[in-house]
Amino acid sequence: MRILVVSTPVGALGSGRGGGVELTLVSLVAGLLERGHRLTVLAAEGSELPPACATAALWTCSGSSQPSAQHQERDAPITMPADGLLPRFWRRVLAEAPAAGFDAALNLAYDWLPFWLTPTAPLPIFHLVSMGSVSRAMDAVIAEIAAWDQHRLAFHTQAQAADFALPAAPVLVGNGFDLSAYGFCAEPEALLGWAGRVAPEKGLEDAAAAAAQLGLPLAVWGLVEDEAYAAAVEASVPAGTLQWRGFLPTAQLQAELGCCRALLNTPKWNEAYGNVVVEAMACGVPVVAYRRGGPGELVQPGVNGLLVEPDNVVALAAAAAEVGAIDRRACRQWVEAHASRAVLAERVEAWLLQGLVAAGPG
Ligand code: UDP
Repeated sequence: MRILVVSTPVGALGSGRGGGVELTLVSLVAGLLERGHRLTVLAAEGSELPPACATAALWTCSGSSQPSAQHQERDAPITMPADGLLPRFWRRVLAEAPAAGFDAALNLAYDWLPFWLTPTAPLPIFHLVSMGSVSRAMDAVIAEIAAWDQHRLAFHTQAQAADFALPAAPVLVGNGFDLSAYGFCAEPEALLGWAGRVAPEKGLEDAAAAAAQLGLPLAVWGLVEDEAYAAAVEASVPAGTLQWRGFLPTAQLQAELGCCRALLNTPKWNEAYGNVVVEAMACGVPVVAYRRGGPGELVQPGVNGLLVEPDNVVALAAAAAEVGAIDRRACRQWVEAHASRAVLAERVEAWLLQGLVAAGPG
């Protein structure tokens, strides 16, 4: 297939502002290239693709980032900045796709416009939905596409898909990672880890409180999206509890992450997947997570981590104290079996092929 992958209109690839979508895009593109497909990526100006995606074409557009749906009120109307990147992306898709001969466009952005365009677009548009429900307008447009042709939609996990009104069982593709990029670490340090965008929906304060209860430092990796929130979390625990390590590229992140005794994952929202959960496991780090959203499906208690009642910091700390009983090698093996880049590419390919058959010749 000739596939046009449309990235998020929130930040350039490599900036971290797009959250997990950035890594998902790279995995997906590299995996589909390995399966013999031809890929073009449309992303914000300044984006870079890693060597694994070298044979993909990169188209870029400039413009203002779209406000993140998860940081607005649930009832907020859809907004569009004056020089918005999102409409420029989609103007370009509509204008150039017919001559470029793409079989399909694959949208990775959680934005209203590409969903709304789908039924009348001159090429089949597919959507890998990257978040659970955070906005009534998005719920409505996703439900509309599902009712029109649900083959166009895929989700990461069951818990995420369950947020939406879908007439049929959802296509679930999980996610996939380049395992060669993550080194296995057998011997951890006396250190807990937390990774993600530093923003209220990610619940860093609970991981910080659990680390403080255990008297262990908590290393924090990720882009600080909300400075006031980060300062409030820092102030909520004894000085020295949090080690702010910043937003690191995967090669450095995995080298540091692997040293952790456990990764704490404490989302306050219905986390669609939780890339960092699987990245930690790939390094041999067991994950202690709330039984909520994607992490609630990815963590197999006793095998690659432990699950506790959501928002229960005492239970979180107790589980983190017991995590030494988990075989770190089994964490890595779980990822190899369930979340490799190859597995993701196979699932996405099958989804697109089925959807194209359903869309008919054209
Ligand atoms: N990440 C990174 N460097 C860091 C911390 C995080 O590259 O120092 C990446 C991580 O690899 C993951 C993403 O940030 O792909 C966070 O994605 P996740 O699915 O956990 O949450 P989201 O941000 O999409 O809500």
